[in-house]
Amino acid sequence: MISSLLEGNKRFVSTIFEQEKEYFADLSKLQRPTVLWIGCSDSRVPVNTITQTKPGEVFVHRNVGNIVATNDWNLSAVLEFTINHLHIPDIVICGHYNCGAINALLNESPDDRYIPIWLNSAYKAMERVDDKLRTLRMQIPDLQRRRLIEEENVRLQLEHLIEYPFVRKAMQSGKLSIHGWMYEMETGEIMVMQKNEMDCRSNFD
Ligand SMILES: [Zn+2]
Repeated sequence: MISSLLEGNKRFVSTIFEQEKEYFADLSKLQRPTVLWIGCSDSRVPVNTITQTKPGEVFVHRNVGNIVATNDWNLSAVLEFTINHLHIPDIVICGHYNCGAINALLNESPDDRYIPIWLNSAYKAMERVDDKLRTLRMQIPDLQRRRLIEEENVRLQLEHLIEYPFVRKAMQSGKLSIHGWMYEMETGEIMVMQKNEMDCRSNFD
């Protein structure tokens, strides 16, 4: 019920906000986040909860499928603001397993108008995984294929990120690093993506 959100806000004001009044007073004057988080809008991947971060620490952009599309003015403005004005040192693209967007990519619905257009920017991830499996003559279960595509999608979106000239420039001057992560909602763990490999490494190894 929607009223539970407003009830939750009352509890927040009377407990956390009250206990950390000074922190929130400072924060109201200036934000200094050190990470830009590009994640999926999925309600099960809430950045501050899964990374145990506080308000003010992470600048957040979420969309269906954690996609970086260079014709997306929304994300473009977020990147320009966080890199050129907030001078953010790190960007994380965090994908997740059991992603509805990737599921929609694999099982396109004839009724959807906008979702397929949006997912065009992730299509290459599916192609790359399928090409690789074909080359290796590997047959794998559907679930495993989907997980590989979910991971490849993060790599693809990291590539899209570098297509922005000001992102590339900030990286070349050593002011910006970009990272690919995957969130496993069944365990709550974040995996750190390995470059140029078809697997992920657990943060807990
Ligand atoms: Zn998702």
